[in-house]
Amino acid sequence: MEHRYIFVVGGVMSGVGKGTVTASLGRVLEAKGFRTTAIKIDPYINVDAGTMNPVEHGEVFVTIDGDETDQDIGNYERFLEEDIYRDNYMTTGRVYLSVIERERALGYNGRCVEVVPDVPNEVIDRIERAATKSEADFVLVEVGGTIGEYQNILFLEAARMMRQKAPDRVRHILVSYMPVPPSIGEMKTKPTQYAIRSMMGAGLVPDFVVARSEMQIDEPRRRKLSLTCGVPEGCVIGSPNVPSIYEVPLLFEEQGFGDLVLKSFGIVSKKKNGLRDWKKMVTHIRESKEEVKIGVVGKYFSTGNFVLSDVYISVLEAIKHAAWARGKKPVIEWINSEQFEQDPKSIRLLSSLDGVVIPGGFGSRGVEGKIKTIQYCREHKIPYFGLCYGMQLAVVEYARHVLKWKDAHTTEIDEKTTHPVIHLLPEQERPMLEGKYGGTMRLGAYPCRLKKGTIAAQAYRAARVEERHRHRYEFNNVYRQAIADAGLVFSGINPDQNLVEIVELPEHPFFLAVQFHPEFQSRPLHPHPLFLRFFDAAFARKTGKNQEKSLDKKRSKPL
Ligand code: GLN
Repeated sequence: MEHRYIFVVGGVMSGVGKGTVTASLGRVLEAKGFRTTAIKIDPYINVDAGTMNPVEHGEVFVTIDGDETDQDIGNYERFLEEDIYRDNYMTTGRVYLSVIERERALGYNGRCVEVVPDVPNEVIDRIERAATKSEADFVLVEVGGTIGEYQNILFLEAARMMRQKAPDRVRHILVSYMPVPPSIGEMKTKPTQYAIRSMMGAGLVPDFVVARSEMQIDEPRRRKLSLTCGVPEGCVIGSPNVPSIYEVPLLFEEQGFGDLVLKSFGIVSKKKNGLRDWKKMVTHIRESKEEVKIGVVGKYFSTGNFVLSDVYISVLEAIKHAAWARGKKPVIEWINSEQFEQDPKSIRLLSSLDGVVIPGGFGSRGVEGKIKTIQYCREHKIPYFGLCYGMQLAVVEYARHVLKWKDAHTTEIDEKTTHPVIHLLPEQERPMLEGKYGGTMRLGAYPCRLKKGTIAAQAYRAARVEERHRHRYEFNNVYRQAIADAGLVFSGINPDQNLVEIVELPEHPFFLAVQFHPEFQSRPLHPHPLFLRFFDAAFARKTGKNQEKSLDKKRSKPL
């Protein structure tokens, strides 16, 4: 089948869940028997998301082939249950860079290279290349930003040109916000009408309008939108807030969105009941009642008065996937590690948790608080799962408090430490000296050999795995023997470079930390084995605590 392209653009404002809509429609089309992939276009100049402050931009999601992308790519992977590659992500910076490089290499045969059509043409080339590589029947293309802003205009032009070139194979969807102002108590369509007008000004006519709102859009408003915007009534799809984003594909299916999209291309569904597993999972989510409390100790949590869990979205989703698979309800507590530096006694609050995760991170802020967290978890037998920085700092903590190397540290923070237990990867020295920070970390999937009989090997039920990386520092092998003699087990090693990938403690309910980012490979229908194992330990702690409590109650009863 020839590739079909579906552009998804946003109206009224950003942050209404265009990524979730794109991923959910992808899931629905997959469920109808079509190979579907998704592309994210970001309007900023950064060549990738790797150089941006996560508080501003959210999580940097890493693909198997080592691209540092927008978190929406993570959503696509989770909803489509497939790996997405570098070709499926582009930014203004990336597009311009290749146009300019091609011009420098005389790639335009001496003619004048112009913003239009050369930039949109480059966008189209990239979209078509990604389509060919993924062999997809349907290619969803999400254009970042909002209709009417200056930044994404060339991407909209690419969407328009593709439609003009192949009208039968290109569709346009507007995802727009319908506010329900509390003072009025009624859903307003006017902002969306303006958005559609701007969209038409850019030469695009929406085939579908997805109405994102606090509530489901009603008939009169569907009619109104259809009338004022030229979209058939049936093609206004409601997308009200739901308790879990994983419900959105079901919501779309109920409204026949997938079939309508197929019909607009003149295609019929190839499969029935394709969402059966998904439905089962959503039922599991809805029915999960028993709470398990997981603390995520990090630093990128707030801006002004707002708490940003988006920075760790894949970690959060991976915890949820594991919890739901066990029929439990995860309760996440976001803890800023600096709190333990300012008020050391507050560390005791960790004992109320069933498990603790320290996710990836950079720089010195909050590091001592994280080390205190790890020490507390190790000594008080609280399940601990360290990810990347969380692994490096677990090694630092062990070196300081078990081997008594008081100044042990990572050279990322203290270059002069006499015990640099974590140090710069040798191949990182040059880019650091030359100031080449963008896209130069150790990125993407690398193999890891697992040591037989360890918790890691048991959890994975494998001898070798591949996991995704994003770091510049690593365990310093000079200290391997001494630290192993002191009891830390090196349960995962990269076979090609002999790098430490996993450390664990056998005499602990769960103390395991990894140099990689397992959270990027967790999927709702296929939770990550290490997260599952960690979650089981957290649940066991909760059960143990409850038993203790009831024993205490019995004990305190007067005889
Ligand atoms: N800052 C550490 C490094 O660069 C850890 C990176 C991470 O946690 N992703 O190695």
